[in-house]
Amino acid sequence: MLPRNFFDQTLNELQCMLHGKGKEAYRAGQIYKWAYQKSVYDFSLMTNISKSFRAELPQLLNFPLPKIKKRDQSQDGTQKFLIELGDNMTVESVLIPSEGRLTLCTSSEVGCNFGCNFCFTAKKLMKRRLTAGEIVAQYLLISNLLKKEERISNIVFMGMGEPLDNPDGVFRAIEIFTCDQGIGFPRKKITISTVGISRLIPKVTEARVGLTVSLNGVNDTVRSRLMPINKRWPITGLMDACRRHTQISGDKVTLSYVIIKGLTDSLQDAKELFLLTRHIPCKINIIPYNPFPGSPFERPSEERVMEFHKQLQDLGAQVLYRRSKGADILAACGQLSG
Ligand code: SF4
Repeated sequence: MLPRNFFDQTLNELQCMLHGKGKEAYRAGQIYKWAYQKSVYDFSLMTNISKSFRAELPQLLNFPLPKIKKRDQSQDGTQKFLIELGDNMTVESVLIPSEGRLTLCTSSEVGCNFGCNFCFTAKKLMKRRLTAGEIVAQYLLISNLLKKEERISNIVFMGMGEPLDNPDGVFRAIEIFTCDQGIGFPRKKITISTVGISRLIPKVTEARVGLTVSLNGVNDTVRSRLMPINKRWPITGLMDACRRHTQISGDKVTLSYVIIKGLTDSLQDAKELFLLTRHIPCKINIIPYNPFPGSPFERPSEERVMEFHKQLQDLGAQVLYRRSKGADILAACGQLSG
C-alpha cells in the first residue's frame, strides 16, 4: 500500500489509521506537533518516537508539499504566490498585510465553473478540486517563508474556486487548521467567502467560521447577469440563509458588493442595497471593480465610490471600504488566474 499524504489527514483519521496498524493512537498527536508546530517533515528527527516505529512510518505516511513556482510582490506589500501542485497544475495564494493583520487568501479549486462575469478566475474552467492537504499546504509553504516575528493572523477562502463547491476539501482543511495539537488556528479568524450556495451555508455555521457572501446585485436581474449562480440560488433564499447563519452563530455576515461603473454604482443601488440587507446583522464590504486583461466592465471613479459609501452610511448601514491591495500584480479580488 502506498503511503498516505500526511497533510490530508485530520488528527482523528491519523489516530484511527495508527490504531488500525496496532500502534498507540496518541502517536498521531506527536507527529502532528512535529509537523505543524516545528515544521519537521522527517520521521527520523521525531525523537520522542521509538527508533523502530520511526523506521516504519515512511511506509504509512509522507509529506508531499507542493512548490512555490513564482512569487510577486506588490508596491503595497501584498504578495502573490503561484503554487505548483503534484500534478503540475497551478493555483495562486495571496498574502495581504494590513494594520495588525497578515491575511492569507487561499484557493480551493484549480479554476472555477461558476462563471461570475467580474472575475478573472472564471476564464479558466475548473480542472479539479483541491484536497485538504493542498489547502493546508498553501498555509504551510507561505508560513515557512515568514520572518520570526511574522504570523498569519487570518485565513480567507477567497482565492481561486468556490469553497462550497469543494466542501470535503475545505471543511477537512478547517478541521486540520484548527486542531489544537497542530496549527491551532482560531476558528473565528477563518472566513469562507461564497458565491452564495444557500443550501450549504449551514455547513459554514456548523464549522463555526466566518461567512462572507458575494452579493453584488440588489435584485435578481442584475445579480443573475453578474453571477449565473443566482438563477439557481436567488436573492430571497440567500438572504434567508444568511439571516439563519447570524441567528445561530451570533456573528454578523459580511456581504461583499463589487461596484461596477454604470451597472451597480448608482445611489439608488446603494439605497436598495440598504433596504435589502437592513434586517440582517451584517457588514457591507464595498469593493470597486478590479479590471483584468480583457475584462468587460469598468471601475467607477473614486468619487463615485465615496458617494456610494456615504449613501450607505447615511442610511445607517455598517460599511467597510478597504482599498483593494495587490492590483498592480493582479492579486486583488477577482484577479487571480493561476
Ligand atoms: S468570484 Fe469566486 S465563484 Fe465566481 S468565478 Fe470567481 S472564483 Fe468562481
